[in-house]
Amino acid sequence: NCTRGFARPKDTVSSDLLDRVDTFVLDCDGVLWEGATPIDQSIDALRELERLGKRLFFVTNNSAKSRSAYVEKFATLGFEAKQEQIITSAFVAAQHAASLNLNGSVYVVGGDGIRDELQQAGVEVAQEPPGGLEPACTAEEFVNDLVPDSNIKAVIVGCDSSFTYRKICYASRCIQAGAVFISTNLDAGDMHGGVLMPGAGACVGAICSALGRDEPDVNCGKPSSIMLSVIRDSRGVDLSRAAVVGDRLDTDIMLGVTGDAAVTVLTLSGVATVEDVAQAAADGGVVPTTVVPRLSALVF
Ligand code: PLP
Ligand code: CA
Repeated sequence: NCTRGFARPKDTVSSDLLDRVDTFVLDCDGVLWEGATPIDQSIDALRELERLGKRLFFVTNNSAKSRSAYVEKFATLGFEAKQEQIITSAFVAAQHAASLNLNGSVYVVGGDGIRDELQQAGVEVAQEPPGGLEPACTAEEFVNDLVPDSNIKAVIVGCDSSFTYRKICYASRCIQAGAVFISTNLDAGDMHGGVLMPGAGACVGAICSALGRDEPDVNCGKPSSIMLSVIRDSRGVDLSRAAVVGDRLDTDIMLGVTGDAAVTVLTLSGVATVEDVAQAAADGGVVPTTVVPRLSALVF
C-alpha cells in the first residue's frame, strides 16, 4: 500500500527503511535540487546517509551535462559527489553506442552532455550536415540538401533546446537509411520554476512521428533496462539492498519497481503529488513503497 509508509510516524519509516538498505539510488532534480536551488536540508540528508555508511548513486535523466560537468554542479550547489557516483542518461546512451561497435559515427540531436560523453567513450560524433542550422528551407530543398552521411550508424536524441524541422529531417533520414535510433530519455516534460516545459520526449516524439513509429529502437534513461544494467553491472548495485528515491512515478519509481529494489521512495518535492499516487493506486499503476515530503524526512 503506497500511503502506508507516509502515514506511519516518520522515525519508524526511517529506521525500518534504513535497516533494509545499504545503497541509495537517488534522482537529482526534484530530490536534491530544483533547477539551481538545493531542496531544503537535502545537502545535510546526504551527509547523514554517508555518515550511516550508505553508498550513494545519483541518477538523472537530464542529458544536458556530462558527468564531469555534474561533479561541478554538485560542488557549486554545496553537494559532494565523485564522477563514479553519477549516472546520467547521456552517459548511458554513450556507453550503449560504444557497446554497439558501430564502425561509424553518431548524429546527436541534443545537448553537449551527449557529445562529451560520446567523445569520452571513444565514439565519433557526426558533424551537423553542411549548410549549418538555419531552418529557413523548404522540405523540397532539404531533400537534396540533407542527404544522410553513410558513416552515421546511430542517432541519439535527447532534449535539444535548438530543435528544428531541419534536425527532424536529418535525424529521420539517417534512421531511414539504417542508423540505430537511440533516445537518452522519454520524459515528455520537466518542471522549471513551476512551469511544465518540453523534455526529451517531445523531441524524440517529433522524430518518431516523422517516421510513423511509436518509439525509438532503444531508450537509455530511467526506467529502461539499459539504465538498470548500468546501475547493477557497471556500478555493482544490489537493488535488493537498495532504495530508489525519486519525484516521478513513471521514471524513478518505475525503475525501482522494475529492478525489484528493496524500497522505492517518492519525494513530494518535485513532479508527482499525493493525488498522483492515489490515482496510480486506483488505476493499478506503479506506486512507491514509501512517500515522504522530502529527502531529509528519511533521516531527520
Ligand atoms: N531532462 C531535462 C531537460 C530536465 O530539465 C530535467 C529536469 O529538470 C530532467 C530531464 C529530469 O532530470 P532528473 O532525472 O534529475 O529529475
Ligand atoms: Ca526528478
